[in-house]
Order: sequence, then structure tokens, then C-alpha cells
Amino acid sequence: MTSIASNIVTILLDNLPGQKTIPLHEPFFNGNEKNYLNDCIDTRMVSSIGAYVDRFEHDLAQFTGVRYAIASVNGTSALHLALLIADIMPGDEVLVPSLTFAASANAISYCNATPHFIDSCPDHPNMDIDKLNTYLGEICQKKPDGCINKISGNKISAVMPVHVFGHPVDMESLGEVCENYNIKIIEDAAESIGSYYKGKHTGNFGIASAMSFNGNKTITTGGGGAVLCNDTQLARKAKHLSTTARADTGLHPFHDQTGYNYRMPNINAALGCAQLEQLSDILEEKRQTANMYRSAFQSINGVSILWEPDHAKSNFWLNTLILEHADPDLQKQILDLTNSHNIFTRAVWTPLHQLPMFVNNPKMDLSAVEQLKHRIINLPSSRNLAG
Ligand SMILES: *Cc1c(COP(=O)(O)O)cnc(C)c1O
Repeated sequence: MTSIASNIVTILLDNLPGQKTIPLHEPFFNGNEKNYLNDCIDTRMVSSIGAYVDRFEHDLAQFTGVRYAIASVNGTSALHLALLIADIMPGDEVLVPSLTFAASANAISYCNATPHFIDSCPDHPNMDIDKLNTYLGEICQKKPDGCINKISGNKISAVMPVHVFGHPVDMESLGEVCENYNIKIIEDAAESIGSYYKGKHTGNFGIASAMSFNGNKTITTGGGGAVLCNDTQLARKAKHLSTTARADTGLHPFHDQTGYNYRMPNINAALGCAQLEQLSDILEEKRQTANMYRSAFQSINGVSILWEPDHAKSNFWLNTLILEHADPDLQKQILDLTNSHNIFTRAVWTPLHQLPMFVNNPKMDLSAVEQLKHRIINLPSSRNLAG
């Protein structure tokens, strides 16, 4: 056993609470959750219509500063809706990081569009915007109606920035590149509630964005998500598509297109309302955890704690230990040893361009992603860890 892996375990055991197991990320229900759930049951308003859904949407819009929030059954469906209202068409290519959760690219596939994979920064899992700009200069032909990939002949209609582990992407630089190439932005803000870029909440920067409230995210509705957007017509369209495109025809049900059953149930929204009430406390505690990790690991050579980018405030959803150099053996030793002590660390996602359904997709040089695959270890990040 190398001394680095055992040093890391010692540091974690010294700094984490003395509980039997330390999950990667667990939910806590310290507020009004039970009251609101009981209310749903007592009033029998547990399903797709109810006051908590409206309230959750209102409170979420208020918190993020986005005009409209449309709650959905999960983050993946919210991404799908965001792409649909942004008019992503079959055959289009959508630029998406290779280093993200599979749902980002799956949602693109649901639109019969093609995920086109882009690289991360050399020392950060977020997308490398300079490299993207250079790449677009090589492969794009600017046409009046948009940007054409010279190699495939398809339109590159959009980019999906992902705020990986809650760290905001440099949206100003990305905005400049996208304006130049006439490419739409749809944000995957699934991990970034409570994260700000230059004082503005994530999810505010594109045509539409998506959040997730899965059980392992910063706040949870059990399962759930939301589309965020600032445009009234698009918000209406998202809600319409999420409610089986039911038209308002009184007592005669009528559906004016193929819609989806993506609406968040009231019982999930009730949980979400209670969680949102505690969000600022949760964010404070998560920042304390990140600070705890940063100072604890300062003394070890060859590893560091991933920090928030300049001009950004991160929610520190999932803390990340990053090895200075790609080292699959060391990464495995650290993962094995920590997990054998019931400290549930985890490796980063398998890069999407290496998954069977995406191996033949268009992609740029992905050398940073291929290095990061063997450099990243996610650390337990629940709200109770800095005690
Ligand atoms: C969690 C997550 C999603 C999808 O959310 P679900 O609610 O699990 O469907 C999408 N993208 C990213 C980056 C995520 O982390």
C-alpha cells in the first residue's frame, strides 16, 4: 500500500464524524417535510395537481431569479423538455461534455439529435471553452441559418454546458463563442442549485435549463426536476408538453400534439417546498465541509481539493479530490482503501464517448477527459459532515 492512500484515509478518519458509514451524499429532512407530506395525505392531493407544485415552482423561480420554473418528474425529463422548447431538431448535433452524467447526452438522443462530445479543462472537469472555440473554428461553416459541421454536414444547433459537481462554467466566455457561431445554450444545471456565476444564479444563461432534485442532489423531492426559463411562451410550451399536451377544452379531453407525462406529483413538490426552506443553511454547511477538506488536504503533495472557479460561487454539491497526475493504480488504491473503511468515495463517471451507445459519436480531442478519468475521486459531501 502506498503511503499516499493510507495518508488520505487517516486524514478522512481524523476529520469526518465518527459514524459507522459515511455515505457519498445522503438527504436530510430536518424541516417541514413531515407536515407537508401529511397535508398531502390528509387532503388526498398526492398526484399531478396540487398547491405544493405551484408553490415549489414559485419558490424555485424566486430563489434562482429565473422567471419561470416548471417542475417535472426528474432532471432527465427536464433536460428533454428544455431541448424541445429550444427547438432542437432531429439530425442536429448538440455539443455536450464527455465528462458528465449519462442523462445529459441521453436527453439529446431522445430528441433524435446527436451528442457531440467536447473536452474538459486540463485541471477542472468543466468544459474547456478556449479549446471549444478553436475546434469550432476548424470544423464549422457559418451559414445564415446557423453553424454547419463541415465533416458531418449536420447543423450544430446547441451546446449544453454542465456545471460539474456544482462548479459554474464560465458562462460569459461561452456566451461569446456561442454568439459568434450562432449556437444556442441549454444549461444542464442539474447539480448546481445554489451556485452563482458573477452573482447570477446558474440556470439563467441559456434559452432554458434543467435542474435535478434526485435523492443525492443538494435538495431533493425524492425524484424530481425542473425546467427554468425566462421566456413566457417557452415556459408555457414546457408546461404543455409536460402535461400530455392537454388542451383546455372543458369536459372533453383533447390533446393537440404528442405530449409527455412529465409533471411532478404534489407529494414530491411538498418535500421540495420543505427542502427549499432550508437551502441557505444547507449551502452554508456544504461550504464548511469544502473548507474542511481543503485545509485537511493542504499538507499532502500530489493531491488537491477542487475549488470554485474565479468569479463563481459554488454550492460544493460533491467535493472532489484531484490527483496531480493521472494514475489509475493510485486512484484504485484510494477508492478501495477508503471504501473498506466505510467512507464511500467514488470515481468520476466513465466518459460518455467510451459508453457503448456513444462510441461512434462525433467528438473533439478528449485528452483532458481521458486524464481526468484517472485523477478524480469524489468525497462524501452530505450536509452534516463539517459538524
Ligand atoms: C442528476 C443529473 C441529471 C439528471 O437528473 P435525474 O433527476 O437523475 O434524472 C442530469 N445531469 C446531471 C449532470 C446530473 O448530475
